[in-house]
Amino acid sequence: MQAVVKSAPEDGAKGTEIRDCPVPEPGPDDVLIRVAAAAICGTDKHIYHWDPSIRDSVTPPRIYGHEFCGFVEEIGERVHREGLAVGDYVSAEMHIVCGECAQCRSGNGHICVKTKIYGLHEDGAFAEFVKVPASNVIRLGDYVPLRVGAFLDALGNAVHTTQVMDLAGKAVAITGFGPIGAMAAAIAEHSGASIVIVTDVSDHALETARRWASNRSFKNLHAFNVRTANPAEVKQQIQDITDGVGVDVVCEMSGSSAAINFALDIVRMGGFLSLLGLPAGHAVTIDDYTRNVIFKGVTMQGIIGRRMYSTWQRMLALLRSGLDVEWVVQATFDSLQDFHEGMGRFDRHEALKVVLFPEGEKAAQARLHA
Ligand SMILES: [Zn+2]
Ligand SMILES: [Zn+2]
Repeated sequence: MQAVVKSAPEDGAKGTEIRDCPVPEPGPDDVLIRVAAAAICGTDKHIYHWDPSIRDSVTPPRIYGHEFCGFVEEIGERVHREGLAVGDYVSAEMHIVCGECAQCRSGNGHICVKTKIYGLHEDGAFAEFVKVPASNVIRLGDYVPLRVGAFLDALGNAVHTTQVMDLAGKAVAITGFGPIGAMAAAIAEHSGASIVIVTDVSDHALETARRWASNRSFKNLHAFNVRTANPAEVKQQIQDITDGVGVDVVCEMSGSSAAINFALDIVRMGGFLSLLGLPAGHAVTIDDYTRNVIFKGVTMQGIIGRRMYSTWQRMLALLRSGLDVEWVVQATFDSLQDFHEGMGRFDRHEALKVVLFPEGEKAAQARLHA
C-alpha cells in the first residue's frame, strides 16, 4: 500500500517519502481500516520539519497521520464490538491509553500516563490502510461528511476546549483563529453563544473569521487584530461589548504569552480559561497573577486530547444537530502523492485544513454510499 512516511530525521521533502509499505496486519484486538480521508495537522507539520519538540516522540521510519476516517476492512478475532461490521464508516481515537493507570481507572483516560499516539509513536493513517485497537474505533453516521470525518481528532480538541461550560448565552473569546480556533468559533455559535470574540495577529485569519460569520448571518462576531491595534483599546471595546463584565470563557489556541495575559485581562471575575495552545518554549510569564488570577477567582484548565469518550459523544451530537465545520477544509487532494504540496499549502496558511483522499474523493464517496 501507499503511505506517507517520515523516512529520515530531516526537515522537509528530504525526510518524508510517499512510498510502498506492507498493509498492517491487525492483531486479535485490532480493526483494520481502509482510509477514506486523512487531514494534515499542526503535529504533522512539526514532524515534517523535524521540529525539536517532537524528536523524542517519533522514530523514523514512521507513517504519519492521526486524523482520518475510513471503512472497516477486517476485524480481529477477539474483538467484541456490538454492531461493528466490515464496511462500516468509522473514525478512531488515536490516543491509545493503558486502561490501568489511576487516571484511566477514574474515567480520565485523556491524561493517561502511558498514552501512545498513532501517527507519532506508532504508524498512523496517512496510508491506504491503518490498524487501530477495536476499543478506539468510533462508528460514524452519514451526518458526518467525509471531509469532516477526516479531522474529528482536531474537532475533538475544539469540542474539548469548549466543553468547560454550557455556552448558550455566554460571551466566548477565542484567541488564535487557526484551524482549531475556527472550529471553536463554529461550536460557540452553534451552541448559542451570545457573543463570539476572535483575536489573532493576522488580518487574513480575521478576514476568514468575518467571512464565516457573514455566511452564517451571525451578527455577534467581533474580530480584533491584537498586533496592529492598541491592546488597551481592544480591551476597552471588549468591556463595552460585554456591558463591563468581561467574557465568560476564553478558548486560548495560540500559546503566546501575550495572548494568555490578554485572555486573563478580558475574562470576567470567576471566568474560565480553557488553554489548548502550546507556547514555543515551555515557560509563560503571567503579568498580573495577583489581580488577574487570584483576585479574579478564575479557573484555568489545560486541554489535552479528547475525553474518552464524552468528547466524541458531544462532537457527534453537535454534528448531528447541524454543526457546520466543513468550510475549514480549504484544500483537498485525490492522492497521497500530493502530501508535500498539501503540507506546503498548510504551512503557508493558505488552508485551515488540508484533506487527502488516498483513493480519490469520488471513490471514497462511492464507498460511503454503497
Ligand atoms: Zn491533529
Ligand atoms: Zn492509563
